[in-house]
Amino acid sequence: MTNLDARLTRRALIAAGLGAVAAACANGSKRPVALPTRTTTPSTPSPSPTATATTPPPDPATVKANELGVIPVLMHHRLVDKVESEYDMTAAWFRAELERLLAEGYYPVTTLQVARRDLGHVPAGRAPVVLTFDDSTRGQLHYANGTIAKDSAVGMLVDFAREHPEFPAVASFYLNKDPFALGDPHRVVADLANLGMEVGNHTYDHVPLRLPAAKVQEQLGKLAAMVGTAVPGLEPHTMALPLGVEPSLPKLARAGRWRATSYRNEAVLLVGAEPAHSPWHKSWNPNKVPRIRSSSYGGGKGEFLSTWWLDQIKASAVTRYVSAGNPGHVTFPKKYADRLAPAYRGVAVAY
Ligand SMILES: [Zn+2]
Repeated sequence: MTNLDARLTRRALIAAGLGAVAAACANGSKRPVALPTRTTTPSTPSPSPTATATTPPPDPATVKANELGVIPVLMHHRLVDKVESEYDMTAAWFRAELERLLAEGYYPVTTLQVARRDLGHVPAGRAPVVLTFDDSTRGQLHYANGTIAKDSAVGMLVDFAREHPEFPAVASFYLNKDPFALGDPHRVVADLANLGMEVGNHTYDHVPLRLPAAKVQEQLGKLAAMVGTAVPGLEPHTMALPLGVEPSLPKLARAGRWRATSYRNEAVLLVGAEPAHSPWHKSWNPNKVPRIRSSSYGGGKGEFLSTWWLDQIKASAVTRYVSAGNPGHVTFPKKYADRLAPAYRGVAVAY
């Protein structure tokens, strides 16, 4: 623990989470998964405004709410049969990851929902997690007999949600040109959108954004134009930096224009290597959202990979975000009050 403590202390993010009680996480898989407490129609995955207005939120202490805790943003690249690098995982590994996330009380949300602080639908007692997929590789989405293949990441997410309605099929996909190597973006972008997946921007040619202004805007605008052509009206609103390389012109990673297409990214994702801050935390920075690599390379045991971080969270070395089920407010134990971004004091519920 000494080495671990020292390592964590070096990281400002983790320092902010150290010492936390996080009793909600302490029992990990033994802890029952809290179901939504607000009444809603069975066919509606998110509580309606009416339901939230008429159903009081639970006692935050009972659900151990802490909406200033960290959110793991997991990063996936290739789902393959033969794992060759830290960019790879098997389908079986991915399925096991979903099982673990469900057992440990996580609830999938998109990057954009985090960036917009649109997390009021996360059931009380559950912890948001973001599943991101870069490079639009074939293992993430392909087809068999005309339908989405069950061994693709999208197919597994959909099947898993069917078996476990309390874990919806929600993820953020960061596309390049010719997504999923299928030769035609129309169907795949439409299928992702229809399933409620976030379609994000990973540049057209997958090039690090150390480029002149016109080229940066071409890379992001051209990909946005591809998405908007495939599904009219659809726009990427978040982006993942290729190779995690910081752009030479950061403002153009956020917003710009190429030909008739303007784009605006409300969050910019990095590559490594720690959980993200809550968007209500004073250190939240939408321009640099860290992610955690998920991989089965070497048994998936490497430091700072998803298994390692989920173990840290489970052991309460880091305090995770746990929803209060109280939309429109940010709820946390009083001892964390100094972590709140001052702009949100007016909606704070400290207990
Ligand atoms: Zn990439």
